[in-house]
Order: sequence, then structure tokens, then C-alpha cells
Amino acid sequence: MSRRELVVLGSASQTPTRHRNHNGYLLRFDTDGVLFDPGEGTQRQMTHAGVAAAELTRICITHFHGDHSLGLSAVLQRLSLDAVPRPVRCHYPASGQEFFERLRYSTVYHERATVVPAPVLADDWTDGPISAHPLDHRIDCFGYRYTEPDGVRMLPDRLAAAGLHGPAISRLQREGSVLVDGRVIRLDEVSERRPGQTVAFVMDTRPCPGALTCARDADLLVAESTFRAADADLATRYGHLTSTDAGRLAAEAGVRKLVLTHFSQRYPYEDADAFGEEAAAVFDGEIQVARDFDVIPLPRRR
Ligand SMILES: [Zn+2]
Repeated sequence: MSRRELVVLGSASQTPTRHRNHNGYLLRFDTDGVLFDPGEGTQRQMTHAGVAAAELTRICITHFHGDHSLGLSAVLQRLSLDAVPRPVRCHYPASGQEFFERLRYSTVYHERATVVPAPVLADDWTDGPISAHPLDHRIDCFGYRYTEPDGVRMLPDRLAAAGLHGPAISRLQREGSVLVDGRVIRLDEVSERRPGQTVAFVMDTRPCPGALTCARDADLLVAESTFRAADADLATRYGHLTSTDAGRLAAEAGVRKLVLTHFSQRYPYEDADAFGEEAAAVFDGEIQVARDFDVIPLPRRR
């Protein structure tokens, strides 16, 4: 199987710091490369992280604040500079169409890549493996969810007991049933459901139902955690989650692994573990406090 992992390109919120760049996250999911929220400096962060422009198949922008989108201009131009052959679909709140166009054409360049704008037109909208869910920020903002369809896992003992091997197994997978020694064997007799994997990406928001829908049963949830629990009043005022909110979201949604990110510059880098500790008080799954250039594998399949 190809790689399934999250590459953290940046983990700061409003202001980048010496240790944290503005947002930017690449989800590698087999042949897909989904870039979330390219903030300023994302192109260079990609170089440091060994992410090629040619890996990108989609770009998802949660909202048009600068820390989530100022890097879009450079990333789109880089796609053209590298003459990336695969089309790249771009998702963003439809109400921000003018910001998308300004960022796309902010300076002169020779546009050679195929960039396909596919704005989010409604709540709980989908486009291939991507769905978008409304969040509660100060401007239109959507969380994104990457869903792999359920598959089928063949059960070797049952295949052997049914006398199935080699090409007969491929035929069974293709046609749903196969005849062995005069008996019909159905696919469901020798296989079980293999749940698809899901990654959820919840950026700037107060706790809200859309965040919960987005994160439901996710294998990996990337959640903003701008503020520490003690600054909950600031989080409410500015439309953000605290580390405790992010932990509660993960617990309520039944998430397996939580990645905390998008930290306010007000907290010292050395104290970042405290975000994880606060979330761990309400969520007993795995937690990782993101640092720039972390490469975080998806949890093993269920
Ligand atoms: Zn932000």
C-alpha cells in the first residue's frame, strides 16, 4: 500500500514564529495529495519537508483568513512552473470566490497547470473523497473530511475451505459469485467488510455541530487548538477551540487519533505539551501536538 500520512508544513495561528510557520498540511493518501490551508511560506515549507508540487491533487481552503490562504498564490504558480501534469482541484467557501481569484492571479505568470476551481456550494457538500462541513468562525469556514469507501477483506481460511484459489478469487471479487464443483460461492461467504479510513480537518471554529459531523469516527482528526483552556473566553470571542474543546470534540466524535495544531503565538514553544495534556484530560485516544515538519502516519486500519 502506498503512503498514508499527514505532513505538517506549519502549525502557527495568526502570526508565524521562529518555530512555527503559518498553517499548511499535506495529506498523502495513496495517489492523492491534499494540501490543506496553505498559509504564507507554504511553498518553502514544502521544499524543506520534501513535498513536490507534483504530489498535489487537491487544495482545500477552510476560510479566507491570511494564515490559511496567503500561500495559495505561490503554490498555484509553482504548479505551473513545474508544469504539473495532473489537474489540481481547489475547494474553498464559494462566498470567497473573489479572494480565490485574486490569490490565483495576484502577479503575472505563465499558467500551464490545470487548476480546477470547485468551490464548496452548500453545507455537507461532497466532491469525490472530500466532503465539507460548516464551522462557526467569524467568516464562512468549512471543515473537510477525506473518506475512503469501505472495501472487502478476503478471509484466507474460508477461501481455502471453499476450495477457492488463484484466478477464481479474482473472478469472485469481480463478479460477486463463482461456481466451484457445482456449488455457488458468494463473495460475502468468504470475505468481510473492510472499513475505509477517514481523516478530518477542523480549523478555525467554536465548538459546533458541523465540527462533530466532520470528525465523526475519524481515524485521524487534525483540529485547531489556538488557545489553552484558561483562555476559553478569548476562544469564544475570536471563534476558536481551546485544547479542551478539541479533546472534547475528538471524544464525542469517537476519533482514534487527534493532532492538535494552529497554536497562538502567545504560548511559549517549550510549553506546547500542555495543549496535549489538557486535551488528554477529556479524550483518551492518541494525541499528538503538532510541530512543523512532523510526519504523522494514519493509525493502522481497524
Ligand atoms: Zn487561523
